[in-house]
Amino acid sequence: MTSLSVIVPLYNEQESLPEFCDSLFAALASAELRRCFEAPFSFEVIMVDDGSTDGSDLLIGELMAGRPELRLVSFRRNYGKTEALSAGFRAASGEVVVTIDADMQDDPTEIAPLVMKIREGYDLVSGWKRERNDPVSKTVPSKLFNLTTRLFSGIALHDFNCGLKAYSRELASALDLHGEMHRYIPVLAQWKGFRVTEIPVRHHARKYGTSKYGVARFFAGLFDFLSVMFITRYLKRPMHFFGMMSLGSFFFGFCISLYVTIEKYMFDKPAGNRPILFLGILLIILGVQFFSTGLVGELLSTRTTRQGGWSIRRTENLPDEIIDKLSD
Ligand code: UDP
Ligand code: MG
Repeated sequence: MTSLSVIVPLYNEQESLPEFCDSLFAALASAELRRCFEAPFSFEVIMVDDGSTDGSDLLIGELMAGRPELRLVSFRRNYGKTEALSAGFRAASGEVVVTIDADMQDDPTEIAPLVMKIREGYDLVSGWKRERNDPVSKTVPSKLFNLTTRLFSGIALHDFNCGLKAYSRELASALDLHGEMHRYIPVLAQWKGFRVTEIPVRHHARKYGTSKYGVARFFAGLFDFLSVMFITRYLKRPMHFFGMMSLGSFFFGFCISLYVTIEKYMFDKPAGNRPILFLGILLIILGVQFFSTGLVGELLSTRTTRQGGWSIRRTENLPDEIIDKLSD
């Protein structure tokens, strides 16, 4: 079994890749990291090229020379960081799994402290960019994001969205990510009952290229916030939520109709144009409506947003059974 899998999601990071690869492989050779595992230590680095158009995948092919531990999954189009991570998790076989950004903003020497913390019994150790080296246009929305996520989830982390994180094998196998949900990994993990913590990590300014996460993607993330906070948490079983609404509505509608009917036949009060009759009928119709909405919700929730596997351009150095798993 592989001791450690490192997943690297990347999109048009060609300029950073050679230096990043050198520093990552140097950090993976450190004695401090190897002491976290029983001998013999083995690792794999899974680079997930998220549909780069700058030739990142070809460059990775070259960087593989002399690095048999390096593997590549290359998407035909850009799916976003969450999907890239998700493919990485599916391909990873390590006892411990680490994710790290390819732009050299995360420091590979922090991998050892993260893994040590996993060895203490945590399932997720998230990096905390205590001194963040990014422009204010990024740090301010990010502070706002962390504050609201902390408030709504009740999870006391400072930094939910650091690229650098370590995972136990159990958590790595249990995560089911799609959309832009990578921002909420600590929330999803804790809600599933896994032990989550964070440690401060160094963070560097971007040296090459530009950030792929601007304001537009921040606002897109707001909808994921609603979806994670309310749907994942409370509407896991849509049939239960809408079913209750449906029963309540149907019950009141039925009582009102019964009352009107009794009054008509026993006390000879005409039912014809009484507003309360319309309310009764409305509530019964709403009840049926809620019921079918719940049913549709239930049907949809059993499917993911992804239809089938990812469209994969090429893979390198991956066993056939892993490639099959990726295209399931
Ligand atoms: N990334 C990706 N797919 C995307 C956007 C980004 O795989 O659609 C990768 C990117 O190459 C980097 C990491 O995700 O390795 C973090 O992205 P970025 O540095 O742009 O985000 P920031 O650090 O500015 O929040
Ligand atoms: Mg970055």
